[in-house]
Amino acid sequence: MIEIQNIYKSFGDNEVLKGIDAIFEPGKVNLIIGGSGSGKSTVLKCIVGLHEPDQGKVFFDQQEFTEMDFEERVPIRRNIGMLFQNSALFDSMTVEQNITFALSMFTDMSQEEKIERANFCLDRVNLKNANKLYPSELSGGMKKRVGIARAISMSPKYLFCDEPNSGLDPATSILIDELIQELTEEYQCTTVVVTHDMNSVMGIGDYIMFLYKGQKFWEGSNEEMLRSDVQELNDFVFASPLMKAARDSIK
Ligand code: ADP
Ligand code: MG
Repeated sequence: MIEIQNIYKSFGDNEVLKGIDAIFEPGKVNLIIGGSGSGKSTVLKCIVGLHEPDQGKVFFDQQEFTEMDFEERVPIRRNIGMLFQNSALFDSMTVEQNITFALSMFTDMSQEEKIERANFCLDRVNLKNANKLYPSELSGGMKKRVGIARAISMSPKYLFCDEPNSGLDPATSILIDELIQELTEEYQCTTVVVTHDMNSVMGIGDYIMFLYKGQKFWEGSNEEMLRSDVQELNDFVFASPLMKAARDSIK
């Protein structure tokens, strides 16, 4: 479980987060939604320590991460898997090396063990024969899969994905969503996904938090979201005609 309490973060005069609270439970896909620039990625970065919040606390399974120094954070970092928005693969390394490199930073596995683990994870994301390819030889969906394989290579307890569907076609998006959902169930990890993709929200969202003007404006399930009468949430959700149709079908 991850808990955040009263998180504030500004960049200069730009107050991006103004007191965010949330609880993200294990075995669930927790979504952070909101318009672009609403602070979704900033929340994620504050949780994993890529940004230090100006105020507030972050707990990983009751351990207060925000008060720990770099060394004390290492065991928690080891349990964090992260899929970045652009996949963030190293272009000069093969797919396999991208994963073994990550394992070298955090484990003392032998080279053989690292290669075995890398290929196990590639297999898990249905990318069996891509291990010797370079990122430039991969499609967008394949890059995301490598990013996911790398994120799960350490068997993380906490999995973070920032816009896992950005740049993917609808069919590939669904496959990536299903993979994230399956892995969350399989490893019972606490998964937090930032998205503005309404298909994902309806498909995999167990818990949804809506950010608006630096605050958590609404939270609930996707069913509740369809029935909500919060105007700001509705303006965001039902900007999509497909979502309007979904709402009308349950009324
Ligand atoms: P989202 O992910 O919801 O699109 P972000 O969290 O990336 O939004 O950004 C929220 C706001 O914070 C934006 O106004 C953005 O310009 C600002 N911001 C994000 N990161 C930085 C940074 N490193 N330095 C300065 N401003 C930033
Ligand atoms: Mg973002």
